[in-house]
Amino acid sequence: MAIKKVSNLETAKRGKIRSIDPIRTWRRRTGRQGCHTHSPLQHSTFGFVSTSDLLDVVEGRVEGNLYTRYGLNPTIRAVERKLAILEGGESALVFSSGMAAEAATFLANCKSGDHIVCIGDVYGGTYELLKSNLPNVGIQTSFLLGKEVGSLADVIQDRTRIVFFETPTNPNMEIIDIASVAKVAKRRGVLTIVDNTFASPVNQSPLKLGADLVIHSTTKYLGGHSDLTGGVVIGAKALIDPIWVWRKNLGQMMAPEVAFLLARSIRSLVVRVRHQNTTALAVAQFLRQHSRVKKVNYPGLPDFAGYDLATAQMSGFGGMISFIYDGDGAATASAVDRLKVFTIAASLGGVESLVTQPITTTHHGMTADERRCRGIVDGMVRLSCGLEDAEDLIADLNQALS
Ligand code: PLP
Repeated sequence: MAIKKVSNLETAKRGKIRSIDPIRTWRRRTGRQGCHTHSPLQHSTFGFVSTSDLLDVVEGRVEGNLYTRYGLNPTIRAVERKLAILEGGESALVFSSGMAAEAATFLANCKSGDHIVCIGDVYGGTYELLKSNLPNVGIQTSFLLGKEVGSLADVIQDRTRIVFFETPTNPNMEIIDIASVAKVAKRRGVLTIVDNTFASPVNQSPLKLGADLVIHSTTKYLGGHSDLTGGVVIGAKALIDPIWVWRKNLGQMMAPEVAFLLARSIRSLVVRVRHQNTTALAVAQFLRQHSRVKKVNYPGLPDFAGYDLATAQMSGFGGMISFIYDGDGAATASAVDRLKVFTIAASLGGVESLVTQPITTTHHGMTADERRCRGIVDGMVRLSCGLEDAEDLIADLNQALS
């Protein structure tokens, strides 16, 4: 099946996103010259001419600037509105990291005695938060492997509040059917929350498929240059507003300078991700026929288990690939060490191509058993394709793997 083009997203959304740039708005109102981006307003607090003006903002009668930790700062608001539009949501909140966004979202929606269902392999930090940290405040999680998604209805309990998953998953690239999970969850009054970090809003729109909330580590594709750390949660205002209180009181605010960088990066998001989609497909096709590669996990390969579903629910297959090298952990590490264009690093989604063995970084904290049942073997390698030419990445892999 042919994959849909992403270019419509760029053209459809650019107009809207531009119109909420504070400088453009100011220029339109005043008829004076502006610039394409505005400097971050780094102030921690904002002054008022009168107590009644201050109370108008404090009591919500006027949308104004007050205190940056609350998010009442124009640079924060501007990037939040851009992110909400990108995901097709009503409202967005930015955070100091992707983990901060996840933690606040879980805590705002669950109290002691409540329950979460997590489907598929997820980022190791998320797994640790759900498995080891949230039980300390009485919130338990049941973990379903991706292949067990059919038993979701049986795992949901009376106190289940959230079904959470990534798709594609980290690091197996499994594709979870957002619409069918959301249907099951909705029938039981449970929220569906999707971590859309791997796909990016360019390739997948979970809210349109029935998810209630979308989370990103903006550290990845949205930031795109490996020079900022942040997170965001996006969805209906009625679901976002209660999370705002948790962000405020846990002090998880994104710094305005970071919000500025993020807004700047979003301007090139579509072009970057489109290039990464094309490059990753070429790299995956190369790996698929390499004699030292036992298996390639990439949603754009027709023989990959999630291909049909990915074609239906994504508009591009993304820049992430994982594969199983024909060698033990040490041999795989040597192959990884021979790479010259790929940089060995945790993280993903940047302009530069990154490589990691999940057992050494993202999933290092799991026990051997937890990794084994998820197929996260010592020979697994994860690639994040950047903006280099595909031929350079393929040549690099060819010399390192052989
Ligand atoms: N979600 C996914 C899919 C991730 O890969 C990561 C980090 O690697 C996170 C969430 C956490 O994001 P952050 O490092 O910005 O806290």
